Amino acid sequence: MDVHNALTVDVEDYFHVAAFAPNIHRDSWDACESRVAGNTEKLLAIFDQFEVRGTFFVLGWVAERYPRLVKAIAARGHEVACHGLSHRLVYEQTPEEFYEETRHAKKVIEDITGATVLGYRAASYSIVRESLWALDILTELGFVYDSSIFPVHHDRYGIPDAERVPHRLSTPKKNIIVEWPLSTARIFGYRLPVSGGGYFRLFPYWLTRWGLTSINRREQRPFVFYLHPWEIDPAQPRVSASVLSRFRHYTNLAKCEARLRRLLGDFQFGTIEDGLVKLGLLSGAGAAD
Ligand SMILES: [Zn+2]
Repeated sequence: MDVHNALTVDVEDYFHVAAFAPNIHRDSWDACESRVAGNTEKLLAIFDQFEVRGTFFVLGWVAERYPRLVKAIAARGHEVACHGLSHRLVYEQTPEEFYEETRHAKKVIEDITGATVLGYRAASYSIVRESLWALDILTELGFVYDSSIFPVHHDRYGIPDAERVPHRLSTPKKNIIVEWPLSTARIFGYRLPVSGGGYFRLFPYWLTRWGLTSINRREQRPFVFYLHPWEIDPAQPRVSASVLSRFRHYTNLAKCEARLRRLLGDFQFGTIEDGLVKLGLLSGAGAAD
């Protein structure tokens, strides 16, 4: 089967990550050395080399400061989507705050690109069982798909028994949104997160490759893969944080770019929008069927 895997990038800086929130207050973000533009340009160059297009979920905070970067992403033919405004976890916001932040971020991005933003991904996959209300706000704001639900156990995110494959999801208020959950491979009844990020850096590449191949070949389905620009930047400034957070953030940063190049050679990729159209979950015009 000709599968259409989705390549995604969450465009944020190393100091935005949820694990560092206790260590770097958001008021100090503007004083941090920003590396997101350079690292994203590096990813754009790699994607050009492999002639792949992907979906870039841009943080509103980044879009407001680096509009030219957002323009460059769109100009290279990639899909620009929304990663929220402030990287605050959805379940730590009130619905009113979430509405206002997300509306603002979507507008900032759309004003830069001149194109309608279709997709949303929450900071640290923070659409969990307690924050499913956010999906209704996304439909209200005109988003047609979400890619925030991680169907695994994790201390910060996850709906362990959520559906694993792209599907139409009925929200608490009975609206419909298309959901492409972060990909997991099935192994002995267990869900192995092989979709990117820290898992991509921590697992040996053969395991990622095995898991993704099994989704494509055994299940005959596409997967979604994600990465952050800071994950290919071993020279980024070090943040003093907990041992666990440092382990998750810094392990194998130096190996990540070479791994990414192998991955791009081993699998076929495109944007989320194109993948969902191919699955019949979106119409070609980008509207939900
Ligand atoms: Zn993020």
